Amino acid sequence: MQKVAIIGCGAYMDSGYGCPGEWRCLKAAAMGEGKFEEASAVVAFVKCECPGRSLAPNTGMAIKLSEVKPDAIYISSCMANAKPACPYASAEEMAKILQDKTGVPVILGTHDYK
Ligand code: SF4
Repeated sequence: MQKVAIIGCGAYMDSGYGCPGEWRCLKAAAMGEGKFEEASAVVAFVKCECPGRSLAPNTGMAIKLSEVKPDAIYISSCMANAKPACPYASAEEMAKILQDKTGVPVILGTHDYK
């Protein structure tokens, strides 16, 4: 079973319109659905906070403190496909920053649930 970290958009999570941490990302990981090619253990769930500067260091700290290096980092579907988009950085830019910081491959999106 692969180990994964998931990143959620804090601005969206705080709005209460179906937070990425509510169930969709977690169900997709558990069931191996959506962007997850196999059932996956979520070893970290990190909340991005505007303007996003803390995301990479917080993710690095979560990996360090948990002492579990994930096989992949998933940027939640709500964050990767946000409309309107994040005003600070594209999901691709966020993914590159995360990948450069952690050395872990980053995948855009988690699930296709409505
Ligand atoms: S910086 Fe962008 S992705 Fe991060 S919480 Fe703010 S709006 Fe969401």
